[in-house]
Amino acid sequence: MTRLGSPAAPDSDTAVVVRAPVPVVRAGGISKHYRDFMAVGDLDLEVAEGEILGIIGHNGAGKTTILKMLTGLVTPTAGTIESMGLDIARHGSRIKSCLGYLPEESPFYENMTVVEYLMFFSALYRMPADLARQRIGDLLFALKLSANGKLTGELSKGMKRKAAIARTLLHDPKLLILDEPNSGLDPLTSFFIIDYLRDLKKQGKTIILSAHNLFHIEYICDRVAILKEGRLIVCNSMDAIRQTLGERQYEITFQANEPLDFERSGDNYVFRSADVGEMAGVLRQVSDRGWDLVDLAIRQSALEEIYLRLMNSDAVAASAVAVGGDR
Ligand code: ATP
Repeated sequence: MTRLGSPAAPDSDTAVVVRAPVPVVRAGGISKHYRDFMAVGDLDLEVAEGEILGIIGHNGAGKTTILKMLTGLVTPTAGTIESMGLDIARHGSRIKSCLGYLPEESPFYENMTVVEYLMFFSALYRMPADLARQRIGDLLFALKLSANGKLTGELSKGMKRKAAIARTLLHDPKLLILDEPNSGLDPLTSFFIIDYLRDLKKQGKTIILSAHNLFHIEYICDRVAILKEGRLIVCNSMDAIRQTLGERQYEITFQANEPLDFERSGDNYVFRSADVGEMAGVLRQVSDRGWDLVDLAIRQSALEEIYLRLMNSDAVAASAVAVGGDR
């Protein structure tokens, strides 16, 4: 048998060596201290090609600091970062040519039109003008951004964010690092951008993003990293997080032609519990007494519930470490 990341078995002439893919980003033991304040502490992280990793945490948890370290804009106090197989400390400019970074707030040259603004950045990327015009047209179309010759200073917040995303994508980077791409946007525009990120993943991009909207994170991310006071307390797939930290709740809805000591919901009775044994007991009762089963539902904790519980409980946070550090 050939194992991922291992040499082929010696008894086969034709065995092929299959190596584990090199992660697009690998951070080992990174920390960032500002004088005696620890913004990020001893963080290990790996992100695979084509993956979307969401980083969540309270205000000041260290999300922006991590994203800036991963782009090379902030130098870690300790630890190492490899991006696309290269050490960021030594190959910063090569890495930047394959990386698109969207900061939390993007400065604009307010007296330029959107196209002039994007042409300006394409020149910084040394893109030929014809190619840049084509790319800008494609991006504005995909992002549904029709600025009609408006200056960037005249754009709405949503239009500005889309223009900034277009700038991040101009040079067709392999890796995208996005700091709150949809902050401050209305629900529709916000969801449009989240859906657009899913399309970019389908095109093979690797995406690391931070966001406060946990529904969006749950919707698009392959894995979620939860930060608390600069420490990574959980990093795993949503399924694994739900299984380990989510409270699976069961709900039975049934009808009975007799008064019962169960919660009523219209004509029905409802029973909820996280205990499978209890649920089985009530189900048996429904069956034995000939009551009509209307519905049996399993409700899983949404990320928001899990996140709030982790933030509010030291005990849960400590046990959550066991969920799994990184890949
Ligand atoms: P938010 O959700 O509010 O954007 P965040 O999780 O992105 O927060 P960071 O911006 O990474 O948090 O900041 C983490 C901590 O590091 C904060 O306490 C912040 O004040 C501190 N910090 C960040 N940059 C600096 C700096 N240049 N000098 C001193 N402290 C800093």
